Amino acid sequence: MNKKLRNELIARANHAKETSYSPYSQFRVGAAVLTDDGTIFEGCNVENASYGLAICAERNAIFQAAHAGKRKITAVAVTSDEKTFITPCGACRQVIAEFADGSTDIILSTKEGKSKIVKFEKIFPTPPKLEKLKKK
Ligand SMILES: [Zn+2]
Repeated sequence: MNKKLRNELIARANHAKETSYSPYSQFRVGAAVLTDDGTIFEGCNVENASYGLAICAERNAIFQAAHAGKRKITAVAVTSDEKTFITPCGACRQVIAEFADGSTDIILSTKEGKSKIVKFEKIFPTPPKLEKLKKK
């Protein structure tokens, strides 16, 4: 991935973070996903008074991509207000696996602008898949 695209995805994740609805944790997260046709979708975390109903920024962005008819994700950028990198949670890794493969770039970035890219296979090496059950 070239640096310009990487920076664009980080900027879009930061933009998404600004709309985070996190009144309970104050833990703002933003994500941006890149689909195989070059479209970028943003998502923020959205909390709920019934805590378990919260949705992560990554899944929010991915579901918007799916709603737009996109089925292949080539990169996911994630950012927060932390000084250290945060990584997608287990639920998000499973959802990423539905639309991505091991070569998908996971772009981690911090509030201060540090970033790094890890391949998806490094953080989720053996995703369960149900290819046999897929109709399309
Ligand atoms: Zn998550």
